[in-house]
Amino acid sequence: MQCSLCKAKAVIYRKYEGRALCKKHFLESVEKKFLKTIRKYELLERGDKVAVGISGGKDSATLLYLLSKFQDKLGIDVEAILINEGIQGYRNLTIPYAEKLASKLKIPLHIVSFKEQIGKDLDEMVKISQKEKLELTPCTICGVFRRLLLEKKAREIKATKLAIGHNLDDEAQSILANYFKGDLIRAARLGPKPHVIEGVFVQRIKPLIDIPEKEVALYALLRNLPVDFAECPYAQGSYRWDVRELINNFELKHTGTKQNIVRTYEKIMPCIRESLPKTINRCEKCSMPTSRRICKACEIKELLNID
Ligand SMILES: [Zn+2]
Ligand SMILES: [Zn+2]
Repeated sequence: MQCSLCKAKAVIYRKYEGRALCKKHFLESVEKKFLKTIRKYELLERGDKVAVGISGGKDSATLLYLLSKFQDKLGIDVEAILINEGIQGYRNLTIPYAEKLASKLKIPLHIVSFKEQIGKDLDEMVKISQKEKLELTPCTICGVFRRLLLEKKAREIKATKLAIGHNLDDEAQSILANYFKGDLIRAARLGPKPHVIEGVFVQRIKPLIDIPEKEVALYALLRNLPVDFAECPYAQGSYRWDVRELINNFELKHTGTKQNIVRTYEKIMPCIRESLPKTINRCEKCSMPTSRRICKACEIKELLNID
């Protein structure tokens, strides 16, 4: 197959655009999309200090690479944060990739671990949860503490934005998963620049939200980024896993499904935000902002009998 723009050998056929691209034009097109997303949603402003959550995987590697590549053009400072959840046979293997990438790009890297900050590894917490037959999935526990620790570290290094490597597929999955679960508060966390109460949380941004997962992977590969392609052992069989299968099957038959899910959601987002509580409580235990009496992190700690 030939590139639709220059007749060189194509590396990808984009069914949703009906065109094939060679390596050069593919890389250029991903970079253009990334910059366009930043402009369109006003994700960054000059002088921002951007903390990037990285994991050693393809999404965060591509994100860190792109932010570092355009650092001067965008007028921003970039630092990376890695959360070590303590997942044997997975995270311990991906960390060296993240370290290699950060040092290659000369980006300062901060590593924060569950064990140090919360007192237990994710593996240990999952064991307790299973032993006590709690209705806490590994992904729930992991998600809550990852958010918390990323937020804390980002604040500590005085970051003005917290960038995460959510791609188009991740976003489409989150939207449907929230829809299926009927969770409005969590639904407000979606979108390229989720709503936050100013001065309370560091603004999260998702610059890869318009790029499909397959293309993020291809970009990382073609740029030779140090990346581990392993999947989290807890992912299989999770709720998100089922939603992912469903969307992927749909996309195969109906091209453009993922883009449509995300675009439709963008249109109804203002209405969802309208219906949310305008004030925020402080957690009675840790005083972190929360919509509840006790925040989710403290609730999980209580359930698992941690400190
Ligand atoms: Zn070309
Ligand atoms: Zn709390």
